[in-house]
Amino acid sequence: MHVAGSSQYIKKCIVANSKGETSSRYRFPVKNEQIKKIWIDRINNDELFHYSDQRLYNTVFVCGVHFLPVCKTT
Ligand SMILES: [Zn+2]
Repeated sequence: MHVAGSSQYIKKCIVANSKGETSSRYRFPVKNEQIKKIWIDRINNDELFHYSDQRLYNTVFVCGVHFLPVCKTT
């Protein structure tokens, strides 16, 4: 049996103290260096600069509440 909206699809948001528990998650826009830098800057976690693009894309999730629409990718 499958339950829609199962919590297995809710990835942990990388932003410290994030309150966006139920909003959509976004993967890092690793194809766009400029937007990628904006995200890392906004997240304020310099550690992410040392991640490879693949690691960012596969392991880092951010909920949509932290970004202006222009910075989102779909
Ligand atoms: Zn968040």
